[in-house]
Amino acid sequence: MENLNNLAEFLDEGIKLLAIGIAPFILFYISSMIVLSTLHEYPKSQRIKSKEELEIVVKEEAEKLGINYDKIKVNFKDYSNSIFTDTDAECCKEDDVDKINFYGWTTRKIVRHELYHILKKDTGKKVTVPSLLYHALVAEPRAYLYGAFGIKL
Ligand SMILES: [Zn+2]
Repeated sequence: MENLNNLAEFLDEGIKLLAIGIAPFILFYISSMIVLSTLHEYPKSQRIKSKEELEIVVKEEAEKLGINYDKIKVNFKDYSNSIFTDTDAECCKEDDVDKINFYGWTTRKIVRHELYHILKKDTGKKVTVPSLLYHALVAEPRAYLYGAFGIKL
């Protein structure tokens, strides 16, 4: 019985140490992602205002990454006349075409972010626990770094 108590105490201490070890990493991760995502949206003056402008920017940035622009379909939802001023973009795979949906305050940095997902084939993956972890820990930080600073990992 005493052995079981010792084991329970040992596990209890282990879990506490693990939590103490992971907490700074989680705080660093969350704060880094907030800073990087904020950098994508500013300055707001560089906002892309029309689908035509967006298509030109997507084409220019796709060429820089060596991505075939003909295989990319762009959707643009203009919220410039509404109170909605948030930025959002998502990337998905439809048949053999990469589709990017842009909402609200789109900037060139956000275009670069989404194109980097396409370059690294982050889109069209089945949603599983490993794929979600990969997306959160590898794909998103990597796309944010390229979008904000042009750093290729
Ligand atoms: Zn992303």
